[in-house]
Amino acid sequence: MATRIDGKALAAKVKAQVAEKAAKLPRQPGLAVVLVGEDPASQVYVRGKEADCGECGIRSFPYRLPTETTQRELLDLIEKLNRDPAVDGILVQLPLPEPLEEAAVIAAIAPEKDVDCFHPYNVGRLNIGDPVFQPCTPAGVMEMLREYGISPAGKRCVVLGRSNIVGKPMAALLTQADGTVTLCHSKTPDLADITRQADILVSAVGKVNCVTADMVKDGAVVIDVAMNRNSEGRLCGDVDFAAVEPKASYITPVPGGVGPMTRAMLAQVLKEETGAKVRGIELNLLQRCGAHLASLTDIQESFLSGRTAVLEAISGTTDKMVGFERKYDEKGSYVCGIKLMDLTDVANTEKKVPLEWINREGNNVNK
Ligand code: NAP
Repeated sequence: MATRIDGKALAAKVKAQVAEKAAKLPRQPGLAVVLVGEDPASQVYVRGKEADCGECGIRSFPYRLPTETTQRELLDLIEKLNRDPAVDGILVQLPLPEPLEEAAVIAAIAPEKDVDCFHPYNVGRLNIGDPVFQPCTPAGVMEMLREYGISPAGKRCVVLGRSNIVGKPMAALLTQADGTVTLCHSKTPDLADITRQADILVSAVGKVNCVTADMVKDGAVVIDVAMNRNSEGRLCGDVDFAAVEPKASYITPVPGGVGPMTRAMLAQVLKEETGAKVRGIELNLLQRCGAHLASLTDIQESFLSGRTAVLEAISGTTDKMVGFERKYDEKGSYVCGIKLMDLTDVANTEKKVPLEWINREGNNVNK
C-alpha cells in the first residue's frame, strides 16, 4: 500500500518557513493579484492566494476588474504595477474573459515580477536551467518529492499533459533533477506502454480516472496534479485512486495533494524573488562603485581596505537603487555621496557618509 504524500501538511510547513524568512527581509514583499471578471472558480483561487499571502507575511494588492475591462486598461494597470517598487510579484488570474488576449497580457508583465513563470523570457530561463522563478505547480511537486526523499535522478519519469502551465515546466524540472523524462499528450500512441515504464508518473490531463491501475508499474510514485469533478460533483484527480494506491509506493491524494502545495509555492517563489532582488541591488551597487567584486563580503573587505565607503550608508535601504559618487567637502576632504533612488527612477534623498566614519576606517583622503 502506498504512502500518501500529505500536501496539506507540507504546504503548512512551507508557509511557516516562508513567514519566518519573510519577517527578516528588509521590507515586506508584495504581490499584486489581478482578477478580471466574475468567474467563480477564479474568485476562489484568488481569495485562497491572498489568504496564503497574509499567512506568510506577504502583502497582497488585490485588483478586481469588471468583465468589460479593455485590453488597453489591463495593460496600463500592468505597466503601473511593473513600475511600483512595493510590488514584487504580479499575478494575473487566467483564463481571462474574451476578447482579452492572454499572450499579450503575459508578455506585458515585467519578467522579474512574473511569479507564475509564464512570460516567454522566464520560460526560456527555466528551460536552460536558470529560472528566475519556479513555476508554482511543478515546483510544488518537486518540493513534495524532496520532502519524501524521492530523487528523480536516474529514474524514468513520465508526465501526462503538455500544457504550458503544468506539463512542460514539470518535464523541465524533472529533467534538471536528472530524471529521464517522457512527455505525453492526447496524440501519444500506446500510452499505457509508456506509463508502465514510469518510476515517477505525473498526471496533469484533467480527465477523471484516465490513469487506471493497469497503467501503473508496481512501486511507482504517482503524482496527481489534476483537479476534476466526478459525476457526483466531488473533487478528484486523474488517477483511479482506490485501484492505484495498493500498487504505488507513494501517491498524492486529491484533494490534499498537489493543490495546497501550488499555493504555498507561490509564497515561496515570491520570497525567494525578493531575496534575489536585494542581492541584485547589491551587485548593482558594486558596479556603480566601479568595483569588480562578487559578494557582500567583498564589499566589506573593499570598504575596509579604503576603496569604498558604501555599506554602512545603505544599510536598511536595500529596496532602493544606490548611486555612488565622489565628492569633496568644503575643507577638501574626500566624502562619499550616496544617492538613493526609488526603482521608479525618482531621486528622493541624498546622503553624505559622515566624515568621522571614513576617518574611523583610516580612509580620509585629503585632496
Ligand atoms: P490543459 O491545458 O487542458 O492540458 C491538458 C493536457 O492533457 C494537454 O496537453 C492534452 O494533450 C493532454 N491530454 C488530454 N487527454 C489526454 C490523454 N487521454 N492522454 C494523455 N494526455 C492527454 O490542462 P492543464 O492546465 O495542464 O491542467 C491539467 C489538470 O491539472 C487540470 O485538471 C487542472 O485543473 C489541473 N491543475 C491543477 C493545478 C493544481 O494546483 N493542482 C494547477 C494547474 C492545473 P494535447 O496537448 O494534445 O491537447
